[in-house]
Amino acid sequence: MDNLRFQVVAEAFKKKPLEVKAPAERPYEYFGKYVFNREKMYKYLPKDVYEKLTDVIDNGARLDRSIADAVAAGIKQWATEMGVTHYTHWFQPLTEGTAEKHDSFIEHDFKGGMVEEFSGKLLVQQEPDASSFPSGGIRNTFEARGYSAWDPTSPVFIMDDTLCIPTIFISYTGEALDYKAPLLRTLHAVSVAATDVCHYFYPDVKKVQSNLGWEQEYFLVDEGLYSARPDLLLTGRTLMGHDSAKNQQMDDHYFGAIPDRVQAFMKDLEIQALELGIPCKTRHNEVAPNQFEVAPIFEETNLAVDHNMLLMSLMKKVARKHGFRVLLHEKPFAGINGSGKHNNWSLSTDTGVLLHAPGKTPVDNLRFVVFIVETLMGVYRHNGLIKASIMSAGNAHRLGANEAPPAIISSFLGTQLSELLDHIEMSDKDDLFAMAGKQGMKLDIPEIPELLIDNTDRNRTSPFAFTGNRFEFRAVGSEANCASAMIALNSAVAEALTDFKRRVDALVEGGEELTRAIVDVLREDIRACKPIRFDGNGYSEEWVEEARRRGLDTEGSCPVIFDRYLDGSSVEMFERLGVMTKKELEARNEVKWETYTKKIQIEARVMGDLSMNHIIPVATHYQSQLLKNVANMRSVFDAGKADSLSVRNVKLIEEIAERTQVIERGVDELINARKVANKIEDARAKAVAYHDTVAPKMEAIRYQIDKLELLVEDDLWTLPKYRELLFIR
Ligand code: ADP
Ligand code: MG
Repeated sequence: MDNLRFQVVAEAFKKKPLEVKAPAERPYEYFGKYVFNREKMYKYLPKDVYEKLTDVIDNGARLDRSIADAVAAGIKQWATEMGVTHYTHWFQPLTEGTAEKHDSFIEHDFKGGMVEEFSGKLLVQQEPDASSFPSGGIRNTFEARGYSAWDPTSPVFIMDDTLCIPTIFISYTGEALDYKAPLLRTLHAVSVAATDVCHYFYPDVKKVQSNLGWEQEYFLVDEGLYSARPDLLLTGRTLMGHDSAKNQQMDDHYFGAIPDRVQAFMKDLEIQALELGIPCKTRHNEVAPNQFEVAPIFEETNLAVDHNMLLMSLMKKVARKHGFRVLLHEKPFAGINGSGKHNNWSLSTDTGVLLHAPGKTPVDNLRFVVFIVETLMGVYRHNGLIKASIMSAGNAHRLGANEAPPAIISSFLGTQLSELLDHIEMSDKDDLFAMAGKQGMKLDIPEIPELLIDNTDRNRTSPFAFTGNRFEFRAVGSEANCASAMIALNSAVAEALTDFKRRVDALVEGGEELTRAIVDVLREDIRACKPIRFDGNGYSEEWVEEARRRGLDTEGSCPVIFDRYLDGSSVEMFERLGVMTKKELEARNEVKWETYTKKIQIEARVMGDLSMNHIIPVATHYQSQLLKNVANMRSVFDAGKADSLSVRNVKLIEEIAERTQVIERGVDELINARKVANKIEDARAKAVAYHDTVAPKMEAIRYQIDKLELLVEDDLWTLPKYRELLFIR
């Protein structure tokens, strides 16, 4: 038997790292080369157009359609000089990826020839054939139109020969069919709410920006090995595979030397990312073998989200060039760490104040405490929703599976900040104030030491940890669009800040002095949001119990967690902030449930196929060899001796027979469970059935397959093993 596995293993060992050359000596020389950034706007646009456009970008002014043609002309000139022939509206449908439809610039010149054209109309709005994107029933087929509309706040860029225009994607009737539209609405809402609260401290603030610095984890697998694993190819994860004898127990991969071929890939990726204006900063090995991380410095959230989406597509492309496949799935391998995407998040003002960082003056410190506490309030009130925002079939393998992070949202603050909040809560209110001459009230908040900024006592088990000047939301899945988490988080915080301001203003109207009113409401909220604060081990069984007592959401079933989007409190929040309507939320949940069902369905089919045409035939083949051996023993030795010499083989023959029977029965049950689930019409009920009755059956089959992998002769096994997938590079 020609074994593809051995062929690809042999080839993988022969691969050499590609040589990667930077286009220039220093990164700043090629940073943003393929981006229509300020510098290029200035160069390619008439002065008045440049000013109007930057006003749109900086101050959220409405885009004046009359400048669209001029902007398009400038962009086209730059693009043509760069050798670009096509353009596309680049958008983020409710699948986890991006979508694009490439058109060339060519048009009839009506003289029998052609001209290259790109008008303002084509820049600003398009109608991609939208009927194949998920909409959750928002679009009936007779009005299956979707529009993509330019988002001028995220710059136009070039990929290969194509000009990419970041756009939102909305239905004919105005509902969001993507992640970007609600994200932009959320970012506006949080800016308004935070600016209002900022005015208590800094009257000059005009705008507050949400910052996002993501850290992207991923696995690399040799392309040949990948192609010999139908499960990886079709589902993004291994559905079977016995643990490698060695995996991450030595902790020798983390921060170890980066292997040469991987190093070349990383360098290439980084160069191309920088050219696209993605400010990549760190790259290193992660905990699991063949697991790595890339992270840029933080940016404004909308831009950071686009950059993450762009980087994920870039990774896939660059990996192939280097003979790898990149795995973005949250749990490609059982038994070792999965991949996440840490979302470092903070708010900052247009005047340069980082609102989640402590300051040097009492005013700064009070502002710091307000923003920390109201963030906690938002996360506390909507902890179920925030969990729903990062839930997916893939991420479900990580959350709650005894690895970062648990399926309960809580926040770790570290001892200094915890003590500070306790101090404000407990001290006698009058003690908190001391008269300080002309400056009026001075708040007795012990000087928050600078040390806080390098907060080192981190808790790796916390899904939402304060890390000095930001919160690090670690529950986001590696494959996810960060926008989903950012929509929920920023909305929750916007609501908390609005609510905070309403109560403070009421006290002030009732005659209370402002600082005292702020402290009053703060103390109330510190008490109220206490259940969300947890500094202990998030993986422990006791925490689940404790969290339940505290009233936190401890639901573990992915499709049921999606319900949180339709809770009264969620709908009310999103509608009040103008982020999403109930109709949009319902439609998006339909999509979530359908996606969940499809993913499990595909996995179940692949599991069935592989069981029947890879695993059972191979095991049976080996069993026949053993049977022959047993028979041959009898031709050489007398029956008694032959039997005693064949004890082990007979036992193996039996074990293989038993295990293959269990597998076969399991596959039958899996098919039946699917048949029953497929009859269910309701999207939610169907997803729940897939979760409750289909998914668990795969685990049982896998158990048997992994046992067989240990028994069957290595030469016969066709699927690359974990040790090969994880250690060859
Ligand atoms: P870690 O120690 O977790 O690897 P890093 O220092 O590498 O942390 O930072 C991780 C990410 O957090 C980077 O993208 C970084 O730019 C970002 N980051 C740092 N400070 C902030 C902040 N105040 N707000 C948002 N993101 C931030
Ligand atoms: Mg981190």
